[in-house]
Amino acid sequence: MREIIKRREAWTRKEVTKEEALDIFKGQKFKTELIEELPADEIITIYWTGDDFVDLCRGPHVENSQELMGAAFQIKSASGAYWRGDEKKDSLQRIYLYAFPNKNELKAHLAFIKEAMERDHKKLGPQLDLFMFDESAPGMPYWLPRGWKMYNALLDFWRRKHIPYGYQEISAPVLNNKSLWVTSGHWGHYKQNMFIVPGKTGDLELDNDVYAAKPMNCPNAIKVYQRELRSYKDLPLRFSETSNIHRKEKSGELNGLFRVQAFRQDDDHTLCTVDQIGEEIGKIMSLVGEIYGTFGLSYRAELSTRPDDYMGDIESWNKAEAGLKEILDGMYGEGQYEINEGDGAFYGPKIDLQMKDCLGREWQMGTIQLDFQLPQNFDLTYIDRDGLQKRPVMIHRAIFGSFERFIGILIENFKGSFPFWLSPTQVGIVPIRTEHNAYAQEIENLLYEDRIRTEADYSDKNMKEKIKALKNYKVPYIVVVGDKEAETRTVSVNLRGSNKQLRDIPLDTFLAVCHNLDRKYVLDLQEEM
Ligand code: ZN
Repeated sequence: MREIIKRREAWTRKEVTKEEALDIFKGQKFKTELIEELPADEIITIYWTGDDFVDLCRGPHVENSQELMGAAFQIKSASGAYWRGDEKKDSLQRIYLYAFPNKNELKAHLAFIKEAMERDHKKLGPQLDLFMFDESAPGMPYWLPRGWKMYNALLDFWRRKHIPYGYQEISAPVLNNKSLWVTSGHWGHYKQNMFIVPGKTGDLELDNDVYAAKPMNCPNAIKVYQRELRSYKDLPLRFSETSNIHRKEKSGELNGLFRVQAFRQDDDHTLCTVDQIGEEIGKIMSLVGEIYGTFGLSYRAELSTRPDDYMGDIESWNKAEAGLKEILDGMYGEGQYEINEGDGAFYGPKIDLQMKDCLGREWQMGTIQLDFQLPQNFDLTYIDRDGLQKRPVMIHRAIFGSFERFIGILIENFKGSFPFWLSPTQVGIVPIRTEHNAYAQEIENLLYEDRIRTEADYSDKNMKEKIKALKNYKVPYIVVVGDKEAETRTVSVNLRGSNKQLRDIPLDTFLAVCHNLDRKYVLDLQEEM
């Protein structure tokens, strides 16, 4: 490539007929195969590089190789590939490379790739003993003791944040009879993604005793709504739920925690009147800001509006869209956000949340979707002020998207060094010698009473070994206690990510710091005490 650039060769495009093309590429079986599949009257384009090399190509290309002076490229990898992806056909070599207009851009990209690889949650997760996968359950994560502590800390945080907003958490069955999925429309539109338990004869359509693992929580929230006759005074009703859902994915599409087959959404289904939509969405957006803000993550919202094949009446759509626009106008300034015209679901408009991580990568996170369809499928009603039966609107929303995916993103964003409140082990405790175990145990008990997650090493291993083992798990604070600390009721604290050791910290001060970081969901470690 470098030689060709130096030769300053012209790259010339030519149009040829099928016949001419077959003649030019005579003896080249792959190209002949491609050309022969084209219609007889097809105009075929070829490119000459200098006088020696010619290839089939639609283009476009630079006009002369000298335009690539200064370009930077580097081979990424090479691998075997089958002709047209078919393993019965010839095996070829495929070469992957990075190419950029200049050296600096290539360098920046390679640094980015290296950093992203070091943060890969599929590598860090198992290394930090957070989760694993097993071939007996593809795409269904096992949460290991450390990972499950973190998962529960995240769930607890999520629940706390929802309480002031009036959410009521429910937990519904994982399996439901087919009849529910028929009514909801999932049987007709989503069956191929569902794990189904067949009935007695194995005939999915005729048997009545067919069950399916839920791919979504919505129909079950509706069942709870239908438990009693609802009045306008009951609305809005916000049923949040985080139980297990399952969706079948193609095996090639599974990707660590990012694409799984079993997961928990941080779900909610709000049932409200059309007039309440604006206020409800406003509250959800404020909760979104609080939740993402806790992790120091920035995000933006996009609005998707009414598609051509919409259902429901246009007046409700207009009201709903105006409500969503008003909120986003208020947040970003009028029109200062992306609108995807006609991209909403057929059952309602939606807001998608795109989050940016510390490497500047954007992730599609939660969505807030209005739904006029499901309330109709299930014939949901409420008695309005005027005594008439009316139909509520449903809002589906998730802020993390799913706990699994969000934890995957957090692992990469924090490179495994989580905020204190989220760390699987928050405080490691290292007695210098076994005679210091009693004081260490006292500290562990005090932290336990304050619901701080600890890990103490009372073995007779030497201090350095104990500290090193805890450091491998990126424990935020490792407390070291010896004669002096026990005598003066102080601790020495090793800070994560630094060689600094804070000495002579009164035990009460340390406990207060831990309490504050944990309960207030503080993002950064406190480095002075
Ligand atoms: Zn839903």
